[in-house]
Amino acid sequence: MKTFCLRHNLEFDLTRSVPDMAALFAYYLADGADVILRVDYNDKRFIAVLEKDGKVWLSSPVICNELVSGEISRCVKLAVLDVFNQMTGQAVELPWGILTGVRPGKLAHKLVDSGTGFAMLPDYLQEKYLLPQEQAQLLTNICKLQKQLVPDANNEAGIYIGIPFCPSKCSYCSFPSGIVPKDEESQQNFLNFIEQDVKNVVKLLGMHRLNVTSLYIGGGTPTSLSETAFARLLKIAADNLLLPSIREFTVEAGRPDCFSKGKLAAMEAVGVNRISVNPQTFHDKTLKLIGRAHTIDDFYRAYEMTAKSNIPVINTDLIVGLTGESEEDIAYSLRKAAELKPHNLTVHTLTLKRDSALFGTQIGLTTESAVRMVRKGAEVAGEMGMHPYYLYRQHYMLGHLANIGYALPGTESIYNVQMMEERHTVIGIGPSSATKLPHADGHHISRLSMPKNIFTYTTNIQQLGEKRMLLFKE
Ligand code: SF4
Repeated sequence: MKTFCLRHNLEFDLTRSVPDMAALFAYYLADGADVILRVDYNDKRFIAVLEKDGKVWLSSPVICNELVSGEISRCVKLAVLDVFNQMTGQAVELPWGILTGVRPGKLAHKLVDSGTGFAMLPDYLQEKYLLPQEQAQLLTNICKLQKQLVPDANNEAGIYIGIPFCPSKCSYCSFPSGIVPKDEESQQNFLNFIEQDVKNVVKLLGMHRLNVTSLYIGGGTPTSLSETAFARLLKIAADNLLLPSIREFTVEAGRPDCFSKGKLAAMEAVGVNRISVNPQTFHDKTLKLIGRAHTIDDFYRAYEMTAKSNIPVINTDLIVGLTGESEEDIAYSLRKAAELKPHNLTVHTLTLKRDSALFGTQIGLTTESAVRMVRKGAEVAGEMGMHPYYLYRQHYMLGHLANIGYALPGTESIYNVQMMEERHTVIGIGPSSATKLPHADGHHISRLSMPKNIFTYTTNIQQLGEKRMLLFKE
């Protein structure tokens, strides 16, 4: 592994911006490394200097007019990128310019809020953040759309209930979900705690006069619960949280292997109006390889049942980069998904985090192929009359690409926008859920994450509810 050590005498925290850029050249931070990187700030300019084997490389100076964290990070990244570029002679792919965060949309919102007009935004993103023109335009369009879909409002909240169970573990999965307990009693016991957490949230909503605009039951796979337990979960949510202000009620029913008519009827009965039924791929061989205990026919059955129900919006997810899949395989899956005419299509790019069984393995698809297939996803979604309305990125993502949600106009998920852009209050219920409270500036948040471990969550449920209350008092 190629390593470097970092020296600087600045008061700023460079522990994220610098390693993010160096990693593009496969250089990683390590004490005592022979390659030394120095970052200097003088006379409103940042300069990065690299020393290796007695040789020295200097970046072009990057002018920084405002010493605020976002601007410092931007300037340091540009300087570091330049100096590594010179030392290695390597031109790295920058599909998202120097943006390395999970939520590139936040920057677009921030720039618009501080006076950059939508007409100027694409050029600004290209010039200052090295975004390719295509991505700069994409971010601009999404930002514009989101401002119409979910106007900023400090008395609105989205609610997420996370059920951390699945019927089996997918090999690429890094979510802290476990196999659903088979016995009814364990499931019902778990729901007792969810109910208690929901009641805590109801109290909080009343105290702070928050209107709930979206409710999302996700996981894991909530439909992995038995029909009885699943119906109870929906009733807990509907009885307590289906307030008149609700615009959207989504259930993640991603896995066809635990889908049933009874569960669908229960969702219809409580007014669920958006559902995710996810094939991820239209190839049985891949489903086997990734540890999913269902076939494409099972998916079609679940999808057809849902399409005949009174649930008006169906989302389907596909993943680019699953083990063993070629460009042709992915293009086939995209075509098959389009034939079904879902209202939303979410195209994910494979991310193999450390917690997944596949971490460190070769998946076969090159970065160039992944880029082509992500473009193909956009093309297919466009042919279906959809537009992109939210996106996010993850660390370890194939080709440093992004997950992009497309929707037919008028069917965009409010919750996805609230959760991704972090400009609205989102209250999380259940293990590993997060509560996020935006600050008045619209760009920072206070956050509380529930423990991933189910036992820790259930045994501390009351204290966790109190902590959440405190977050809103700060
Ligand atoms: S269904 Fe989703 S949450 Fe469950 S194991 Fe598979 S990827 Fe993970």
